[in-house]
Amino acid sequence: MEIEKLLDNNASACYQCEQARGPGCNTFKGVCSKSPETTAIQDHITWLCMQLADAAVQDRANVTDEQLVLFNRAMFTTLTNVNFDDDALMRYAEDLTAELTALGVNGVNKSAAEAVATLKDYGLAHRIHKFGETVAGLRETVVYGIRGAAAYADHVFVLEGLDPVRKETWMNVEAMAELNKDDLSVDALLGLTLKVGEANFGIMAALDKAHNAALGQPSFAPVNTRPVEGKCILITGHDMDDLHKLLEQCEARGVNVFTHGEMIPAHAYPALRKYKCLVGNYGTSWRNQRKEFPLFPGPVLFTTNCIMPPREDYKHRVFTTGRVGFPGLTHVTNGEFKPVIAAALKAPGYTKAEVEAANAESPLLVGAMHAEVLSHAGKVLELIGAGKLRHIFFIGGCDGSTPGRNYFSDLAEAIPDDCLILTGACGRFRINRVKDYGDIEGIPRLLDVGQCNDVFSAIKIAVALSEATGLAVNDLPLSLCVSWFEQKAVAVLLTLLHLGIRNIRLGPSLPRFLTPDALAVLADKFALKPTNNKDAKGDLADMLAGEH
Ligand code: SF4
Ligand code: SF4
Repeated sequence: MEIEKLLDNNASACYQCEQARGPGCNTFKGVCSKSPETTAIQDHITWLCMQLADAAVQDRANVTDEQLVLFNRAMFTTLTNVNFDDDALMRYAEDLTAELTALGVNGVNKSAAEAVATLKDYGLAHRIHKFGETVAGLRETVVYGIRGAAAYADHVFVLEGLDPVRKETWMNVEAMAELNKDDLSVDALLGLTLKVGEANFGIMAALDKAHNAALGQPSFAPVNTRPVEGKCILITGHDMDDLHKLLEQCEARGVNVFTHGEMIPAHAYPALRKYKCLVGNYGTSWRNQRKEFPLFPGPVLFTTNCIMPPREDYKHRVFTTGRVGFPGLTHVTNGEFKPVIAAALKAPGYTKAEVEAANAESPLLVGAMHAEVLSHAGKVLELIGAGKLRHIFFIGGCDGSTPGRNYFSDLAEAIPDDCLILTGACGRFRINRVKDYGDIEGIPRLLDVGQCNDVFSAIKIAVALSEATGLAVNDLPLSLCVSWFEQKAVAVLLTLLHLGIRNIRLGPSLPRFLTPDALAVLADKFALKPTNNKDAKGDLADMLAGEH
């Protein structure tokens, strides 16, 4: 009924993130504030990417690197909270159309108005109507996984070009090309989701290598969370290369840089923390930006998601770069951050009095990426052998604002002192100030493995433990509680499933795009479980009892 209404209204719908309400948001406006027009253009971009993938698979020899890079970038722009600027999005659509023409595919050109007008021919409501909810949901899962993986692939491309992720980009292109077929079965679609998970594993590995090569091997580092006197810039998102360039440019100008959200792991990299102007971390996760940014006394630079519609009182000092866009904000390009620095010099910055009046706060520890943790492997194994380390939890993933996310704080708080907690992605902010977790004979109990892509580190740690103990990963005293919100989290989840990791607890709600039928398959094959948001302690007891 709802779908018929959407079709009748020629309105769009979107259910790609955890915030989707009812059958999906955006009949008029999404929870993220995305308009139906923006959704229509993003759907059009996705459809063009599918046509590009189809043409590429049929004519591999003539596919250029530029086309593969564009595929990743265009998919990246369609992630939740990345780009709300219809003009910028239409430029991606135009570039895709031009590349399709170069590959001999014509008749795909559409203006923004035409994309909106023909929405009912290919929008989400139409897709559900055409394929049925289960098949449509699995098709969307493949697309969302590719979106997330494409974002990571673009970070690798910026650092090292296409070669390290060429094979994986092709895997995603092949999966996308399959979606151009109307007759895919549930089994075939499940195979595609795991293929995308495999591609994303390779991309996360390549990004880990690229970060280490460019920025040095990360290690434990305490991060200041108090104000520091002087002019300042807040940088958020996930792009370490942008941060590196900003630090180079700020060091000479005497402007301090604070990290925000998913930038906090930057303090672990030697090539970044060597800059004196990298002075600390401000705020928490993306969901609080409209409360926190008005209080920051300098400009804010968004390098990637998650951007929320800025409030009028601070909008004038928000800048975007890369794939991020929002109408009315200044977009800077080519790593040239002069306008941001100029805005910082005009802004008040932190005064001595504000610094003196600020509350004392303990630094946050980052840098528990795989090389650092595995350098302590001997001690960890000794603790396990002596019965002093009972269980390891991974609690992390995307943060969000929907109810139920206190589960992750409650769980972390209740975990006994003889257990370690790995965390990562902006879900860390749900747990890293809950209490002082202390240590077990010198091993910090709360280990921040880094950004969402650094789940790769958690996987490497689990594999190393498995090899050292002779236990299969699924038999280790290890439990994963993953908070999901958007499509990078989908890509990471598909990677974990591709690796055969079972018993993952996923919350705070299960994805709308997976119907009970699709979930039954995943529950059967991978024992994927919903978090019991009302009973974190009950879940904890089950996990400690070996039910992961
Ligand atoms: S991205 Fe999320 S919040 Fe935005 S319209 Fe789609 S489902 Fe709704
Ligand atoms: S981890 Fe997820 S929710 Fe957090 S900033 Fe990154 S993409 Fe957004």
